Amino acid sequence: MMSARLADAYNAQISLELASSHAYLQLAAYFADTSLTGFESWMRAQADEERMHALKFFDFVLDRGNQADLGAIDGPGEPPTSALEAFEIALAAERSVTESIRNLHAMAREENDAASYPLLEWFLTEQVEEEASVGEIVDQLRFADGNPAAVLMLDREHAGRAHVTPAE
Ligand code: MG
Repeated sequence: MMSARLADAYNAQISLELASSHAYLQLAAYFADTSLTGFESWMRAQADEERMHALKFFDFVLDRGNQADLGAIDGPGEPPTSALEAFEIALAAERSVTESIRNLHAMAREENDAASYPLLEWFLTEQVEEEASVGEIVDQLRFADGNPAAVLMLDREHAGRAHVTPAE
């Protein structure tokens, strides 16, 4: 079993990942409203991925014999007013998730919980990729500078991500 202090931090991380999933779904709604269906699809896929991250932490807590105590999930912030702002919101959120995982890693070291290292290192690598991919889209939308043709082109370019759709 993990120490109670470390288990609490993992449980908080589960809620943070679920809040992140929740926030991405809200951003998907913004893109659905504005008929940028490629970015809507991208945001839905990201919401699915964040839920999988939450489950990965959830399973780890259970596998270690600790209790999974799910806390309240923070709601999404103010809605974006542009595609660029939506991805800037996502980038800021990813950076705070990275910070939280770095803190978990530091705590695991303090608690000498070696079983945490592979999991947390997987997540740290994942965060490098997440920040890079979101940051790339932020850069592209900055180049587009609100030009509708350019934003539409980027929307089509990022349409390819598969996401879960509810059964008919
Ligand atoms: Mg995540």
